[in-house]
Amino acid sequence: FNAVPEDYPVPGKTTVYDTTETIDLENVPLNGGLLIKVLILSVDPYMRGRLRAPEVKSYMVSFALGKPLSGGGIGVVLRSEFAGVEAGQHVGGVLQHQEYVVAPSLAMLEVIEKDPKLDWSVYIGAAGMPGKTAFMGWREYSRAKKGEVVYVSTGAGPVGAMVIQIAKQDGLKVIASAGTDEKVEFMKEIGADVAFNYKTTDVREVLEKEGPIDIFWDNVGGSTLDAAMEFANMHSRFIECGQISGYNSGYQPMKVLTLMIFKMMSFHGFLVTFLLPKYTDAFKAEVVPKIVSGEFKYTEDVTRGLDKLGDALRALLVGTNTGKGVVVVAHE
Ligand code: NDP
Repeated sequence: FNAVPEDYPVPGKTTVYDTTETIDLENVPLNGGLLIKVLILSVDPYMRGRLRAPEVKSYMVSFALGKPLSGGGIGVVLRSEFAGVEAGQHVGGVLQHQEYVVAPSLAMLEVIEKDPKLDWSVYIGAAGMPGKTAFMGWREYSRAKKGEVVYVSTGAGPVGAMVIQIAKQDGLKVIASAGTDEKVEFMKEIGADVAFNYKTTDVREVLEKEGPIDIFWDNVGGSTLDAAMEFANMHSRFIECGQISGYNSGYQPMKVLTLMIFKMMSFHGFLVTFLLPKYTDAFKAEVVPKIVSGEFKYTEDVTRGLDKLGDALRALLVGTNTGKGVVVVAHE
C-alpha cells in the first residue's frame, strides 16, 4: 500500500508491486509457524475502505502504508512446524498479498479440502466469503415467503448472483440489476425474472412496473436505495449488505428515512463474520453441493500475477470486472 487514493485506486500509485524483499524458502525461520506458497488471492469491494489514512476510523483497520495488503486467499503449505498441519496441505483465510507468506499459526487460516470438481478460486467466491454472505444474510434476515418480490442490486457479482439463485429456489419473483448488458444476460441465465442494466434503464420505471418489492438486497446504496424505498411494500425487509456506489466518492446520507417508518420496514445491516458460527454447517451442507453439481452457477474474472492485483482491484471498483475478482498468483 503506497498512497491513499482520492477516489478510485490507481495501480502503480495506490498500490505497487515491490520485489525488493525476498524469502529464502529453504532457510527462513518458521518459529513454530508455516511457510505458504500463495496460489489465489481475492479482490473484494470492502478492500477500498481499508485503503485510507489510519486516523479515519471504520469497522476494519486501515491497510498500513508501506506494507503489503492482505485479504482472502488460498495457499499450499511448503514447510510446517505447526502441529497438525503438513507440507502439501492447502490453507485458506487471510493472507498477505505476497507470493510466499510465513504465518505464525492458523489463527487467521484453516486447512481446506477441495472438492475435485471445483477450482481453488471457487473457495474465495461462490463457495467462500461472498457465497456465505448471500446465504447467511438471506437466511437470517429475509423472512422470505413464496410469491414475494425481491430486488437484488449488483446481481451479477458473487454475492448478488448467489442471492438471485437462493431467492428463486425459495419461490420468489426476482428483479435484478447490473451495469452491463452481458451481466444482464448472466442474471437471466441464473433465473432472474426481470433483469436490467441500471445505466441504460431507469430503476424507478422498472420497480414501478414490476414491484412493489417485499425484500431489497442492497449492494449499492445511494440513489438505488432511495428508489427501492419508494417502491417498497408495507412491512418490507431491507438487507443492507453493502453500499458500493459510495466507496470511491464518500457516503451520501440517506434522504428518505421517513419512508422506512411509514412502510414499517425492517432494515438490517450485517457483517457476514458475525453469522459464520450460526450458518457455516448449513452452508456446507446446502450450498456447496449445489455449486459442485452445477445447480448454482457463478462467474469469475481472473487476473494472472501478483503484479496485476492493483488492476484487478480497480476493475472491480470501477465495475469493468465480470464476476468474482480472482488473482491467480501461482500454480502448484
Ligand atoms: P462485486 O465483485 O460484484 O462488486 C463489484 C461490482 O460493483 C462491480 O462489478 C459493479 O457492478 C458494482 N459497482 C461498482 N461501482 C458501482 C456504483 N457506483 N454503483 C453501482 N454498482 C457499482 O462485489 P461482491 O458481490 O463481492 O459484493 C457486493 C456487495 O456486498 C458490496 O457492496 C460489498 O461491499 C458487499 N459485501 C458485504 C459483506 C457483508 O458482510 N456485509 C460481505 C461481502 C460483500 P455493476 O456493473 O453491476 O455496476
